[in-house]
Amino acid sequence: MKVTKNKYYYPIARRNITRISYDESPAHRGKWKHAIDFIVPENVPIRASLDGVVFDVKDDSNTGGESKSFDEFGNYIEILHAHGEYTIYEHIRKNGSRVKRGNRVRARQIIGYSGKTGWIAHLGPHLHFDVHTYFGKGKNDYASIRVRWKSKNGLKQQK
Ligand SMILES: [Zn+2]
Repeated sequence: MKVTKNKYYYPIARRNITRISYDESPAHRGKWKHAIDFIVPENVPIRASLDGVVFDVKDDSNTGGESKSFDEFGNYIEILHAHGEYTIYEHIRKNGSRVKRGNRVRARQIIGYSGKTGWIAHLGPHLHFDVHTYFGKGKNDYASIRVRWKSKNGLKQQK
């Protein structure tokens, strides 16, 4: 089974996590099957999971909802790490990013704040997180990878 080469920290402090969800979201299929939803209230700090460089940011949307038609309105931060692995932090609130494209970030650094923009399905405010690599040049030419966590905050095994 393909797993990440890097080991990652949680993107959210444990005390702020209501629960963790793997496959409830209808978006976690196919190339997103290894994605994780951290169910958290709005405005919770989001932290870089590892050292890296900010690859892309969108935080100008104030729109979100349960149906897939809201997908394009989702705010996010995407970071490039060692070994060509990327992390993405989705559904952040409007103006909720504290980083810009090209910024270097350190592991655990606060990069933004949670929200409910984009396609949040029935889950309410949450942070969608995945680690992925690109297999092509297109924005969606990527596949999620099963995450290896730093041992101190390891998640229980995914099914
Ligand atoms: Zn998700």
